[in-house]
This record gives sequence, structure tokens and C-alpha cells, in this order.
Amino acid sequence: MALYSLDLSEGHKGIVKVSMEFYSNGREEVVMPVWTPGSYMVRDFSRHIFGIKSSKKIEQLSKNRWAVTGEGDVKVEYGVYCDELSVQTSYANSDFIILNGAGIFLYPEGRKNERCDVRLENVGGRDIATGLDEISGVFVAEDYDQLVDSPFLIGNFESMEFETMGKSHLIGWQGMMPVARERIVEDFRRIVDAEGKIFGELPYKRYVFIIIALPDELYGGLEHKSSTVIMTDGRKLSDPTSYKLFLTTVSHEFFHTWNVKRIRPAELGPFDYTKEVYTNILWLSEGFTSYYEWLVLWRAGIVTEEEYFNHISTMIQYYLLQPGHTYPADLSSFNTWIKLYKPDGNILNSYISYYLKGELIALALNCFILEVTDGQKSLDDLFRTLYHHFKSTGEGITKEELISYVNGIAGTKGGDLLRRMTEGEEEIDFHSYLDAIGYSLEMKSGGEEHSGFLGIVISKVNGKMQVKAPLKGHPAFDSGVLPGDEILAVNGQKFTDLFTRDLSPELRNFRVDDLKWIRPGEKVVLHLFRNNRLIQLEMNAGEGLPEVKISRKGESKLKDKMLSG
Ligand SMILES: [Zn+2]
Repeated sequence: MALYSLDLSEGHKGIVKVSMEFYSNGREEVVMPVWTPGSYMVRDFSRHIFGIKSSKKIEQLSKNRWAVTGEGDVKVEYGVYCDELSVQTSYANSDFIILNGAGIFLYPEGRKNERCDVRLENVGGRDIATGLDEISGVFVAEDYDQLVDSPFLIGNFESMEFETMGKSHLIGWQGMMPVARERIVEDFRRIVDAEGKIFGELPYKRYVFIIIALPDELYGGLEHKSSTVIMTDGRKLSDPTSYKLFLTTVSHEFFHTWNVKRIRPAELGPFDYTKEVYTNILWLSEGFTSYYEWLVLWRAGIVTEEEYFNHISTMIQYYLLQPGHTYPADLSSFNTWIKLYKPDGNILNSYISYYLKGELIALALNCFILEVTDGQKSLDDLFRTLYHHFKSTGEGITKEELISYVNGIAGTKGGDLLRRMTEGEEEIDFHSYLDAIGYSLEMKSGGEEHSGFLGIVISKVNGKMQVKAPLKGHPAFDSGVLPGDEILAVNGQKFTDLFTRDLSPELRNFRVDDLKWIRPGEKVVLHLFRNNRLIQLEMNAGEGLPEVKISRKGESKLKDKMLSG
């Protein structure tokens, strides 16, 4: 067992001092994780450690590993600099402290299954929110995995509590709260109820939502077994659309309570914290979760049917716009460590996010299940079955097991379909899947009346229009426009916001060119700065952006089943 004491007295300097005590049989190696579950990127948390010392002889062996030699009670002390405000990292200032365990706690190698106790010192009268149980002033984790899976918020935050389905819930809200408490509690409760209904029960004693809503461009969420940390730009929450998008994150992270935390890929847990862990089914863990994040909001009455299908239309448009969308979902998952979290300028041409592709695969699979079972079964049945099976075994799931569960619900054609959509490069026939549940999909490519399109994804940096990525198969890519180029003018006219468009508010900053006044086929002269030199490129404008529209054809019992679950 290890006892960790965290001294928070220097939180205002961004520093948390850690003391770790345990019994050693002679020689132990203490290790800091390089990544944290739920976010598949090597982050090298040990770079924030400083001033490490021990009551016994201590020697550094590698970037994140130290040997401690000497039998008996051992104390290892170190400081952690907490200056990264994100859902995966730790941050401290005079207002509040957020601690994510993977970057705070060393573990003795080979002893991750031992109990971990945490004592917080010099809390200064502030409140504490965490998913861990507190027993006589000590927070208790049954093992290191649970410790890492239980972030702490220390601050003077708003506490909102509610009970539903026999379980208690706390929302610890740090920062701006421009929405009424009652509204927030009601919306969170509706999400919890709608997701609890899918699985038939809430699988925890108590659940903690940690929300950080500063006037800053924050975004993201990270799931845990009995808590989540969500960060958002508090300034935007008074806008109804932004508030709904925030609720999609709440719905997403909460769905992970089952999907990934309890229905987990076999490779993920027990975790190897020292290196990349490869799995090919993150499209299930993340993509299917993204699919439910919106479906649940529709079920909960938070978004309308129209808003729901506008979202699906946007996702299909966004997917098809990316030339890399045929990249297999299995590989997308496997390569997340070097692709999704470390994108280069070619990422959209050669890769597709398993969040996005997985969401659309889930949609197609759900429509297929609904159709083939004539509305007797849906994707909900698959998740309910998976949850109850893996809850009893405690094992992780493999791709082959998943396929056999799909076969059990939708027949072998269901398993075959899932295999084709995740392993191959074929297009997903959205038309026929949506048609089956009573919706028609219209795809209009830009014609004469539309603006020209060069296929440039643009980011605006300090007022400058920079090429983030040229899309393969479009004029800019073929003419040699490169990531990093600054676009100055199009046909002699200054390149401003008027020549760009955000695909959708929900796709944060996905901005593409949209050449108003220039027709498809017309000659275009671009002036660019590249490496601080002026260059000129010529090309012909391409067809406008393809638009995607989904409309209801009439009543459909399959759609009703999709909505009711
Ligand atoms: Zn997720």
C-alpha cells in the first residue's frame, strides 16, 4: 500500500508537493506514466517533476523511472509543476487546483494492484470534488488504476447535487455559470436518466461531474469510472447553441461510464502506463459514444429531431469532404498515437478520425439492425448485452467477440457489415441506411450558381489566413498550395473572412475557402506568403462544397424504435 500526501500550500505558485510513503523489501522502482487512459498520446508527465529525493538511496534510471534502494519504510518526495490546463493534465493557481493522477502519482513497479491512500494538506478551507471515497480524511483508491481514474478538483466551486435511479450525483462547477442552476441540474439529470435506461442501471454508487468553465478557449472532456472532467469556454454558455454543444460533451463523457470504462477494449486495462497501448476498436469506444451523445440528447428532449438530423447531415458532409475518409477505422484506432493527436498537414488526406467514422458506422449499423429485425432490436440491445456480459466477467472485449455479439442480434450479415465498414475502404451507403428508417438523404454538389471552391482548410492565426491543409483532389492541392502558406489575395482582391466559411458551429474552427463571386471553372490567381516570400499560383476554381440534407419521408416505426431505444 502507498500513502500519498499532497501539500497544496504552494498551489498559487503552480506547485503541488507530493510525498509518497510505502514499505520496501529492499529495492523498488518508482514510475510515472507517460500517458493517461482516455487520451491516446504520449505526454511524458515526468517532465513536470522536480526536486525528487528519498529517505533511501534514489537513482534515476530513465525519463520516468527511479530506483529506490533500502529496506523498510520509504518516503519519496517531489514537486509537480502544474501549468497545463486540460482534461488530461494538472493545473494549479490561487483560485483552484485540478489534479489528474497520471501526472501526479508515481507507482512502485509491480505493485499497481495495491491500495492507494491520498491525504490532501493545506486545502485552505476549499471544497474537494473527486470520485474517490473519503474515509476519516483520507481518500481511498482500491488500486493505482482507480487512483489515476479519479481526478480531484479543489476550489470554491458551485456544488449541485441530484439523485436519480437510486444513485447520487454531484456537479462541481468551477468558473462562470451563465445558465440557471435548476436548468443545469435538470439537463444533467435527463442525460443520466436517458443513458441509465439504455443499460438498465447506473453502475456506480456516486458520480461526480467536474466542470471547469473559465472565460478562456477551453474545450474537452475525459471520462472516468465514476467521474468526468469537462472544460468549456464559460463565456459561450449563455448562447443556447453553445450550451447544447456543451451538453453533447456531458452526454458523451457520461456514456463512457459504460462504453470504454466497463465495456473496454481488451488491451485497455490493466493499463501499461509506460508506452503506447495499441487497440483497433477505438471506433467502438469513441465513435459509438459520439453517436449516442446526440441520440441521447434527442431522447432527453434537449435537441429536436430537426437539430439531430442537421447534426447527422453535418457529420456526413464533414466526413465526405475529407479525402482520407476511406482509411480503415481499425487502422485509424491503431495509429491514434501518431495520427489523431499528432496531425500533420496531410492528415485529412490520409487518415480519418475514429470518432467521426465510428459515429457514422454506428448510425449505419443501428439502421441495419432496426431494418433486419423489423424494429424488434436496435443498437441499444447490443450495448445492453455487452454491458451485462462484461460486467460479470470483468474482462475486456476483442473485435471478434464484438462481431459475434452483433451476429447474435442482427445475424451474420450484421457482423459482416461491421467488418466491412471497419476493415475495408468501401464507402458507407448512407442513402440506403437512412432510407430504411424513413429519411431521405440529398447530396448536392455545387453547381453554376454556387461559389467556387479550392479545397483549402484555413486557420486564422493573429488575423492572418493560413493554410492548415489543402484537400487532395481539389485545385489548391494539385497546384502546390502547402500547409503554412499565408493567403493574401484571390484574383487581386484581399483574402478576408468573406472568402471563407465555417462548416458548422459544432466543428470548432473547421473553416474552408468559399470563393464568392468566382464560379466553378473560372481562373483563380492566388497570392501567398511562403517562408516570408511572395509567391503566385494559378488554378481553376473547382465545384462548390457538396451540401448534405436529410429530410423525413413520413412516419416510420423503425425511427420510433431508434428514438425510444
Ligand atoms: Zn470520448
